[in-house]
Amino acid sequence: MLEQLEPLTTEPVAYGFAIVLGLVWGSFANVCIYRWPPSEQFPKGRSVVKPGSHCFACQTPIRWYDNLPMISWLWLRGRCRSCKATFSGRYLIVEATTAALFGVAWWATVVANQMFEPLDVRLIRFAIYAAFCFVLVAITFIDIDHKLILNKVTIPSIVAFYLLGLALPGHAWWNGLVGIAVGYGVPWLIGEIYFRLKGREGLGLGDSMLLALIGALLGWRGVVFALFGGSVIGSVIGITALVLMRDRAEPAEPVAPAEKPAGPGQPDGDGEPAPDDEPSLMRTELPFGPFLAMAAVFYLFAEPWIQLNFKLLGG
Ligand SMILES: [Zn+2]
Repeated sequence: MLEQLEPLTTEPVAYGFAIVLGLVWGSFANVCIYRWPPSEQFPKGRSVVKPGSHCFACQTPIRWYDNLPMISWLWLRGRCRSCKATFSGRYLIVEATTAALFGVAWWATVVANQMFEPLDVRLIRFAIYAAFCFVLVAITFIDIDHKLILNKVTIPSIVAFYLLGLALPGHAWWNGLVGIAVGYGVPWLIGEIYFRLKGREGLGLGDSMLLALIGALLGWRGVVFALFGGSVIGSVIGITALVLMRDRAEPAEPVAPAEKPAGPGQPDGDGEPAPDDEPSLMRTELPFGPFLAMAAVFYLFAEPWIQLNFKLLGG
């Protein structure tokens, strides 16, 4: 059965399958991003299963044909069919990002790897990599929205991706454990030093949890790469944003939130108290998570490829 499908795996139809799968999971990521974080009304977040999708303005349940990833949004021009309330274009971005990552994951795991691994291993690899991308997309956008990396997302994911990593060939059992320890420990150490020097938090504990998750699948090398790569991406994007902001400078423009002095446990300026004593969530001062996630995804796809090339060179 699998052998018969093998020639198809490099065809456009296979990429189409991966991308449609990514759209569906991207659509689910939107639900998670919207419902997982705590709110005043739901301090523990909400279920992503019940109730079904409904319009945030008029509460009308959204029919399945109005809930097709991307297509429905474009067809209805981002509006509710009943009350015409506008849905953010962000939904599209999340779906498109997830779909693109699933497409790249298909290429990286199933296509580029075809001379080195049997198809079943490559399909398992695809499933794990795609799931990892899905989790990172959800974490990224929740962090952008709330400056929060939720333990209820990271902790189960750390366990799951450590165990899933064991299913991959060439993964020693200690690889993920070392990754988790380094991922959690190093930023904790940096944060501790930073706190001693500056008297405020640099890296949040949420970032430690995210790095532990990255380490669970990608080992300590993945953690180190994500930390440095994330810093580079963060600097480039941060500097670009500063330059763009200065170009359209208005004197009363508030400075980047990074400049705000906020001790641990202090309200951080936007009026909501920092929920530091909430055990279920951890707060980061800067959303560094998206940059860590971007670097981790890059490493995820680049690392096996680099290793394969070494294998080719070494014979
Ligand atoms: Zn509506």
